[in-house]
Amino acid sequence: MNQKNTLTSNNSPLGTLPCIICHKKLEHAVPEVGEGNQPDCGVACTTPGHYGSRVFDPDDGHFLEFNVCDDCLRKAAAEHLIALGFKGRDSLRLWAPGIEDFSDN
Ligand SMILES: [Zn+2]
Repeated sequence: MNQKNTLTSNNSPLGTLPCIICHKKLEHAVPEVGEGNQPDCGVACTTPGHYGSRVFDPDDGHFLEFNVCDDCLRKAAAEHLIALGFKGRDSLRLWAPGIEDFSDN
């Protein structure tokens, strides 16, 4: 079934998405700009999909974008659900806010 995107009309800007976990409305980080997905008190996450996904793995340059509010990010980090990655390296470690040791030793 072709599901229409109800957040946009024609080619109008999408604006800031709500938190994917708690659905909290997030304001734009730069209100005077106001366009695009730039959440205040949250992060915008992107994924190109994943080989193992049965839902999204287009392998053609498309990606999904969604937001997680800072409260949900803190909660997930405390539950050891978030990894910190290192650009250009195939290594991950558990991440928590305030642990900003970016060395990969
Ligand atoms: Zn949230």
